[in-house]
Amino acid sequence: MSDPLGDRARLGPLLRQVAEAAERYLAAIDSEPVHSGRVEGAAAALQEPLPEVGLGSAAMLEKLITDGADAATRSAGPRFFHFVTGGSTPAALAADWFASALDQNAFSWVSSPLGSRLEKVTVGWLKDLFELPPDWGGVLTTGATTANFVGLASARRWWGLEHGMDIDSDGFAGLPPIPVLTSGYLHGSAVKALAMAGIGRASARRLVADSVGRLDMDAFRSALDELKGAPAIVIANAGEVNAGDFDPIEEMVEVAHRRNAWVHVDGAFGLFARVSTLARHLAVGVEGADSVIADGHKWLNVPYDCGFAFVRDPALMTGAFSITGPYLPLGTDERPSFGDFGPEASRRARALAVWATLHAYGREGYREMVDRHISLARRVAMQVTAAPDFELLAPAPLNVVCFRYRPPGYPEDGLDDLNRRLGAVILEDGRVFFGTTFYQDVVAFRPAIANWRSTESDVDLIVSVARELGESLAASR
Ligand SMILES: *Cc1c(COP(=O)(O)O)cnc(C)c1O
Repeated sequence: MSDPLGDRARLGPLLRQVAEAAERYLAAIDSEPVHSGRVEGAAAALQEPLPEVGLGSAAMLEKLITDGADAATRSAGPRFFHFVTGGSTPAALAADWFASALDQNAFSWVSSPLGSRLEKVTVGWLKDLFELPPDWGGVLTTGATTANFVGLASARRWWGLEHGMDIDSDGFAGLPPIPVLTSGYLHGSAVKALAMAGIGRASARRLVADSVGRLDMDAFRSALDELKGAPAIVIANAGEVNAGDFDPIEEMVEVAHRRNAWVHVDGAFGLFARVSTLARHLAVGVEGADSVIADGHKWLNVPYDCGFAFVRDPALMTGAFSITGPYLPLGTDERPSFGDFGPEASRRARALAVWATLHAYGREGYREMVDRHISLARRVAMQVTAAPDFELLAPAPLNVVCFRYRPPGYPEDGLDDLNRRLGAVILEDGRVFFGTTFYQDVVAFRPAIANWRSTESDVDLIVSVARELGESLAASR
C-alpha cells in the first residue's frame, strides 16, 4: 500500500472499526485506572522510523487501536482530577467526529458556510449562557491561552489607539511600556499571552494583599491613580487554579473604568460560575469587562481543542487579526470570516461540537452539571474537614479543593516532603488522579472536578485513596 487513492474502498470499514474500538474504550473508562503500568511501554511501541513503503491502513489501525488505547491516559474518564480537565459529552464527541469527516475550513463564509454559520450561532449561544451582552464580538480558539491572546491583543489595540497609534499597523515604536495590573491569581497562560502580544511577561504587576495572592484593592486603586488617566490593562481572574477563588471582578471593573483601564477577565473555567445557581455570585460584574475568555475543553466538556474569546468592541478584534489578500473574501457582519477574529487562518470547525452539546443539553443541562460538580467539591471539602488526618487549606467556592495530608503527630517540617511523595504515589497508583501544587508556601493537593462523568463514588476516592497510600508512606518513614 502506498498511494492513499488505493485505500478509498477501505474507508467505510476503517470508520466502523474505529467506532467499535472507541465504544469499547469509553465503556471501560468508568472503571479502569486512570493510569496503568502499560502506558509508557505502549506509547514507546509506537515509536518507529518513517516507513518507506506504507504498511496499509488496516495494519495501522490495528496498531493504533491496541497500542494507542493502552498508551492513552484515561483523562476523559471520571477520576482524572489533575489540572482542570473536562471530558467529551456524548453529543460533543459525536459532532466532533462528524466535523472531522466533513473536514470544513472554518476560515470564512466562502470556505464553509456551515462552520461559519454554526460559529456565529454558537458564539451567540455562549454569550447568552454566560450572560454577556449580545452585541459583543466572539470567536472560538484552540483554548484559553489563545483566547487570552485574543483578549489581550484587542486590549493592546485599544491601548495604542488611546495613544493615537495603530500598533497592529505600525508596531510599538515610540510608545511607553503598557501598564498591566493584576492580582497574584494571574495564570501562566495570560503571562504567555502577554509575551505573544509583545506586551511582555514582565509587564504584569501583581498587586497582592497576602500570601494567597488576593488583590490588594487599595494598591490597585493607587497604581491606577498614579497613571493619571493614561490607559492601562487590567487582568481579572475568575477562578484561580489552586483553590478556585475569584478576584473581586465587579469592583475591579468599576475602579478600572473610572481610570481609563481595559479589563480583561480570564475565566477559563471560572466563567462557568455564571451558569450555576450555587456559585454565580462569584462572577458578578463580568459583563462590565472589555474582554472575557473561557475554555471549551474544560467545563463545557467538548473535545480538545476549544476555547472562547469575547470582546466588547468587535472592531478591535478584526483590527488586530484581519487577514487580507487579493484572493481572500472580505467578511461582513452578516457573513463574518472568523479567521479575521483570531490568530488562525485555516481552522477546524470547532463550532460543531460546541453547538452540538449546547443543542443537546441546553442551559438547564449545563446548570445541573456545573452545580453537581460544585456540590461534589463541597462534599470532598467536608470529608477533608471532618478527617483528623487531612487539612483543608482554603475554602472550596467552586470545583477545586485545596488540602494536604497531615497525619496526627507527624513532624511539621516533614509534611511538604510527605505530601510531595504522596502526590507521586497517587499518580502512579492511578485509581484516582490529581497532583500537587504550592499553596501559601506548603505542598498541597488541588483536585478539580470538571468531567460530566464524575459522580460521588469517584470523588470519594480522593480522600480514601490518599489516606490508604499516605498511611503506608507515613508508616515507612
Ligand atoms: C487552563 C487555564 C488556562 C489555559 O487554558 P488552555 O486551554 O490550556 O490554553 C488559562 N487560564 C486559566 C485560569 C486556566 O485554568
